[in-house]
Amino acid sequence: MPPKKIPIRTCVVCREKAGKRALVRIVRTEHGIMVDPGGKMNGRGAYLCERPECWERAMNTDVLAKALKTTLTSEDRERLSARQRQAAP
Ligand SMILES: [Zn+2]
Repeated sequence: MPPKKIPIRTCVVCREKAGKRALVRIVRTEHGIMVDPGGKMNGRGAYLCERPECWERAMNTDVLAKALKTTLTSEDRERLSARQRQAAP
């Protein structure tokens, strides 16, 4: 029996590779950029690791926007920072 493959994804900011469940999917929908906790939403997705620096850079640089081929609106940034605050201990 071959070992079960875990899908590997890459954080768009730090380029660190990790199993899908260790990363947070961000998806571009018609309503804007959303955090997709289940990884099931339709749309172009990008992955971020849990490092706060990566979320900061995703919000404050265009690296995430480029990965999603869009631009971040202030609402998008607000949603991302809300998710980040929730995740903080
Ligand atoms: Zn990262």
